[in-house]
Amino acid sequence: MLWKRQRVPFAVFYELTPRCTFDCRMCYIHLTPEQMGERKELSTEDWLRIVDRSFREGMLYCVLTGGECMLHPGFWQIYERILAGGAVLSVNTNGYALTDADIARFAENPPASIRITLYGASEEVYEKLTGRRAFGRVVENIQKLQAAGVTPKLTATLCRWNLQDFPEMLRLAQRLGLRMKYSFDLSVPNADTGRCFEDYAPTPEEIVEAELAGWKAVGMKPYQNEPITELPARLPDDPNSVRLTCEAGRGSYTIHWDGRFSSCLNVPTKIHIQDYTYEEAWAAVYEQIEHFPIPAECQTCRLRPVCAPCYLLRKDQKDPFHCDPYRCRVTHLRYNAGLLTLKANKKDETEKEEYDPEEMMHDG
Ligand code: SF4
Ligand code: SF4
Repeated sequence: MLWKRQRVPFAVFYELTPRCTFDCRMCYIHLTPEQMGERKELSTEDWLRIVDRSFREGMLYCVLTGGECMLHPGFWQIYERILAGGAVLSVNTNGYALTDADIARFAENPPASIRITLYGASEEVYEKLTGRRAFGRVVENIQKLQAAGVTPKLTATLCRWNLQDFPEMLRLAQRLGLRMKYSFDLSVPNADTGRCFEDYAPTPEEIVEAELAGWKAVGMKPYQNEPITELPARLPDDPNSVRLTCEAGRGSYTIHWDGRFSSCLNVPTKIHIQDYTYEEAWAAVYEQIEHFPIPAECQTCRLRPVCAPCYLLRKDQKDPFHCDPYRCRVTHLRYNAGLLTLKANKKDETEKEEYDPEEMMHDG
């Protein structure tokens, strides 16, 4: 892509706040005011200046995310400035805090997409995972959006605390007439959240069991794959390892709630917009990307096209030159169970069109 080759930052993520109306057990970002301590969120004026600068640099796509991005006091001003500039705008929300006035405002001036994450299909699972009995209110808000002519996209992030609800979540999406992407690709939490990946990550076997149950619930049949019996052997370190090739740091960047500037939501950073000019920050994030290798084993792996969408979504962060054993096992088990397919097989699977697994994969 020319934009990427010429390093035009056309896609921008604004993480407006780490605050949230939920306190999800697997959240990589949510902070309480106590955890935020002295650190302050960027002000509305800061964000409006950032938006104007992003447009001057080539922004075409923008994602507002958080935390719950709608909690930022300047949410609507920021939202309207982005839409007025003509960007394709997506808003990520948990759907709980939406008021009737918000829904009317979205209907009057809609974004390209509103993505609502579902965390379960019952009050009990919502309470266990998010800390709130929020299920009924979230579904009601989804229906109100639909009635107002704004069709949300559903996403499900699946972890140990809501796997059992996966079949019912798929059925719910069907009943609502909405497609639902889902993902088992959990992020390692930021250190300041105090959370621990092991507390919420399901085992690879639990993932496969839940996914098969979900597929069965909505009438999907697994693919017929030839099982792969061995995980890839560890290859020697590759000092010339290929660097990440995605848009991060080449065609996109993220600005975090406190002004940190990074190539992507998953890349830790100490670059702060208050300490750098825009040009310096953009040059520095390229350096970040240059330091993330593609693991040696993944470079030639035939399952690579269906493995995790990002090399940084890994439990083991300390050995970046080699594949993450957890992630690798998840992919192999899912492939062997027929839950993933390589493109060549896919042509024969016309009956899966309504719930195409690639379509359903989490894209965040
Ligand atoms: S709703 Fe999202 S941002 Fe909020 S706590 Fe849950 S995972 Fe984190
Ligand atoms: S992590 Fe994924 S791409 Fe890498 S070797 Fe394992 S299955 Fe292949």
